[in-house]
Amino acid sequence: MDKPTILIIGAGFTGCALAYDLTLRGFSVTVVDRGEICSGTSGRTHGLLHSGSRYCVNDPEAAVECIEENTILRRIARQCIEFNNGLFLAISEEELAYKETFKAGAEKCGIPIRWMDKKDILSREPAINPQVLGGFEVPDGSFDPLRLALAFAGSARNRGAIFLPFHQVESIHIDGRSSVDFIILTDRHTGRSIEQHADMVINATGAWAGKIAEMAGVNVPVIPSPGVMVAFEKRMSNYVVNRLSLPGDGDIIIPQRRMSVIGTTSFEVNDADYIPVDQGMVKEMVDRAIEMIPAIARVKIRASYMSARPLIQTGTNARSLSRTFKVFDHETDHGLKGFITITGGKATTCRVMAEKTADLVCEKFAWRKTCQTKDFELDSYRTFYNRQA
Ligand SMILES: Cc1cc2nc3c(=O)[nH]c(=O)nc-3n(C[C@H](O)[C@H](O)[C@H](O)COP(=O)(O)OP(=O)(O)OC[C@H]3O[C@@H](n4cnc5c(N)ncnc54)[C@H](O)[C@@H]3O)c2cc1C
Repeated sequence: MDKPTILIIGAGFTGCALAYDLTLRGFSVTVVDRGEICSGTSGRTHGLLHSGSRYCVNDPEAAVECIEENTILRRIARQCIEFNNGLFLAISEEELAYKETFKAGAEKCGIPIRWMDKKDILSREPAINPQVLGGFEVPDGSFDPLRLALAFAGSARNRGAIFLPFHQVESIHIDGRSSVDFIILTDRHTGRSIEQHADMVINATGAWAGKIAEMAGVNVPVIPSPGVMVAFEKRMSNYVVNRLSLPGDGDIIIPQRRMSVIGTTSFEVNDADYIPVDQGMVKEMVDRAIEMIPAIARVKIRASYMSARPLIQTGTNARSLSRTFKVFDHETDHGLKGFITITGGKATTCRVMAEKTADLVCEKFAWRKTCQTKDFELDSYRTFYNRQA
């Protein structure tokens, strides 16, 4: 059988990781994006390599995915990661009382944690609020978002994948037999309209997945759930700093090279393309960050920005929606052949999202190739632009 041709829409973490997985399994892959690599949500995240600790009490499914993938990414994507670990701090008595619940959740999800007393914490992180009562050390980390996506994309490209940035999907055409016939793209450099054919089209457009699915006449219940991030001009800690409580607003500080990024909020919108920065939320982030690292009050804000998570609708509000992912098989669900959607999840879980999607693609083509993305370190992110690097 000839190599099946796969068209991936979306060049964020998910689309890039999927391109890598599918090329390793021997498919012929093209990735299109209306912008550059990482021009969607993937270019605007904190860059927190989750250990799963944040979700270990209220969202154990996502927590287990995170710790498993955290361990794999440390091995295959070490070029993009700071192995700096994280702290979950008890600053109030209420947070201290949460200690045993958190410990039980982490143990259940297989996340290695270690209690540190106040003296130990302050000796390692002198800028932390001296009122701190103690905290857990966890295997969080910081990653460089662009490098992570480029490492997957470069590894895919080195194995034959074609990337077409600035190619926007305008419409998806279905033939009489209920399968995707072709899609129409606009080359945004030239304005030219292009008819693109493939044996399988995969919708990896994150928060836009519902809109792309609509073009094919099917429903994907994804809710764009934005969050604000505030970048400060100074690196205030080496650890990723969290609050020892259920996930809330403004409870994370991530060191990103010379900066500190504070996040975040979580609410729902209809249009992922229009998310103005809410100054009230920026103030809330700053106030909450000061509770963790008081000296941040004297540091200049470099930027504040928003982006939208792709969360799968389950009928609850954005903060309580699971951070897990879902592969939608539109043939089984809607009788539409040649079309799959992958959405939800986290940057941290992009590799396994790709694995599960590629497994389904293999099933559709009776293609007996198993996932190899856990086995090799990714090529240098630099090879995306320069294959000699
Ligand atoms: C505020 C915030 C902070 C976060 N922080 C973290 C974190 O610290 N750690 C972590 O693990 N996760 C984090 N996440 C989650 C993570 O960023 C997302 O899950 C991830 O970026 C989604 O990647 P994706 O590739 O699925 O989607 P995207 O990166 O959004 O990619 C989708 C792509 O589809 C393209 N597209 C859309 N429409 C079209 C069209 N018509 N034609 C062609 N292309 C199209 C877009 O341009 C985009 O590039 C955060 C999310 C938010 C909102």
